[in-house]
Amino acid sequence: MYIYIDGNYVPESEAKVSVFDHGLLYGDGIFEGIRVYDSNIFKCTEHVNRLFEAAKAIMLDIPLTKAEVEEVLVTTCNKNGLTKGYIRLIVTRGKGDLGLSPTKCPKPSVICIASDITLYPAEMYEKGMPIITAAQRRNKATIVDPQIKSLNYLNNILAKIEANQAGVPEALMLTHDGIVAECTGDNIFVIKNGVIYTPPIHVGILDGITRHAVIDIAKGLGYEVVEKEFTLYNVYNADECFLTGTAAEVIAVTSVDKRVIGDGVCGPITKQLLDEFHKITGSDGVSL
Ligand code: PMP
Repeated sequence: MYIYIDGNYVPESEAKVSVFDHGLLYGDGIFEGIRVYDSNIFKCTEHVNRLFEAAKAIMLDIPLTKAEVEEVLVTTCNKNGLTKGYIRLIVTRGKGDLGLSPTKCPKPSVICIASDITLYPAEMYEKGMPIITAAQRRNKATIVDPQIKSLNYLNNILAKIEANQAGVPEALMLTHDGIVAECTGDNIFVIKNGVIYTPPIHVGILDGITRHAVIDIAKGLGYEVVEKEFTLYNVYNADECFLTGTAAEVIAVTSVDKRVIGDGVCGPITKQLLDEFHKITGSDGVSL
């Protein structure tokens, strides 16, 4: 496997970062997870734009232009003969000293890995999956904004540990005051009486690219999509519930905290959205 690191494409065994990199020492950096389908980097521009927005928010100067980053994505896939899979694009603050200050890190590091990902078992895409609500609350947007896709995912990992302990693949996270936010690596939608609801970004969630794609698809199909705050009560009593994410794609949730959602199967609107989503993944992006 060839990995891009700071201007070079090197074998995995040579792809190394310093132990003084603040990405490692402090989680000071950002990343993107990007999917490749049918030789197409799905929503490539959207991912690169989000990376640059996060970089701006944390005052990290990516040493490449957006066009150069896209070129790195394409070349990393091509060097690995990857026509379908998952790309991890990382920008760390770079090598500094043991102090916190980024001023000691003159050169950010850019890393790109083109590989694969399997988040949930295949049968769950047919049958849906159970989830739980984590006791761990989602980071507050006024403290560390979840819109920054940073290298510090401890907030999400703590919730994921709760899911693991409960024997389910994913955990729903609430805001500090109990509003439904998102899952550890996916956005959440519920459907009630034919209307599709999803939490607004301001509650403190990642502005998911799959979330946007699914909202556009749903609106295109004539569904009403409402971004509004709601609570667990609305999730438990939804007709359908599903999650969206680059790695997760679109996946039905069939129970939450042991409350069966709707008929306990992947519902008809979720199925329709999943099918329509798969129709655009091969074309909406940058081709290899
Ligand atoms: N929320 C969180 C916390 C995430 O990490 C992700 C990405 N894995 C998502 C939502 C989904 O975002 P996207 O559709 O852009 O992958």
